Amino acid sequence: MNKTATYAVTESVSRGRRHTEPPPRERGEFQRDRDRIIHSTAFRRLEYKTQVFINHEGDLFRTRLTHSLEVAQLSRGVARALGLNEELAEAVALAHDLGHTPFGHAGQDELNVCMGAFGGFEHNLQSLRIVDTLEERYAAFDGLNLMFETREGILKHCSPANARALGELGRRFIEAARPSLEAQIVNLADEMAYCNHDVDDGLRSELLSSEQLDAVAIFAQCRRGAESCWPGLAGRRLVHETIRRMIDMLALDLINRTRSNITRSGVKTLDEVRAAPVLVEYSEEMRLKLRELKTFLFDNLYRHERVLRMTHKTRRIIADLFAAYMVELDLLPAQHRARACKSGSESDRARVVADYIAGMTDRYAVKEHRRLHGKTEANGLHG
Ligand code: MG
Repeated sequence: MNKTATYAVTESVSRGRRHTEPPPRERGEFQRDRDRIIHSTAFRRLEYKTQVFINHEGDLFRTRLTHSLEVAQLSRGVARALGLNEELAEAVALAHDLGHTPFGHAGQDELNVCMGAFGGFEHNLQSLRIVDTLEERYAAFDGLNLMFETREGILKHCSPANARALGELGRRFIEAARPSLEAQIVNLADEMAYCNHDVDDGLRSELLSSEQLDAVAIFAQCRRGAESCWPGLAGRRLVHETIRRMIDMLALDLINRTRSNITRSGVKTLDEVRAAPVLVEYSEEMRLKLRELKTFLFDNLYRHERVLRMTHKTRRIIADLFAAYMVELDLLPAQHRARACKSGSESDRARVVADYIAGMTDRYAVKEHRRLHGKTEANGLHG
């Protein structure tokens, strides 16, 4: 198998943990990070959070949890091929969506509107907030006390104001430096995973058809490849044979292009990776193909009228919950109420409310909304 590359993240070059801890026995520091993420409460909640389809719409659609597992598996594969730190890539991938609200992007967009006067809401920053502060599992510290490089990988983007508030972790956004190659891989594995599984779920739900998708070059090419290998193949098997070819094509292109970028750049150390331009990328040809697929998914799946109707209802749920808690803190569970009452400013209180709402699963939010508002149009979610 590949040897560890000199530019991989290793424990010896790591900037370590915020709180010093004794080293783990019989496992590495990044394995420990992965294990902590899997044991966290926020990770288990991903099972009941929307990816594109609301959790109860069907048992076979992706949820945030299965999406995160697919991202982790793709990230590990690419990291291993390039001689990088597999455990770090896996840990970042498993944690990358921990901060997602219920109801997917619609939920995050609405919570961001609600938090407009209080610093906004961004799921990526919320993922970091969960692992740094909100998880309550250890006696000695808040959060999971993860390694610097795991936290750095979770924080994909950041405004200059937030970057300044984050100190060392935010510095790269101010200095326009890059994160580790492992983090760069997860970024693209995320996109690779959802582009492919959304095609699968889109076809399964019949919001998309294969005939429609034939207008997209990468799909048409891979479907032709599957049909010429297996004449007469049809139905779900043809869909899966097509999608596995798409994933294979993307992953191989990503590995090859990145490997040649690394060679051409001459980077030998992690510091040189940070100073170099982004090295993990697809070839120009594959980037265009992927962009065509993403545009197709945006126009035909994410903006499908059935998805938009659901978006509209779920945004109302988030807005109603936020308004209700802000008016009456007593509606919050005791623990959150205590935090909210302790916080001095309205903005601190709003953050506690946002943390609480962001932590909800889809069905909990629906149930809570029903409890507070009785039967309303927004409750039509189960109808
Ligand atoms: Mg994701």
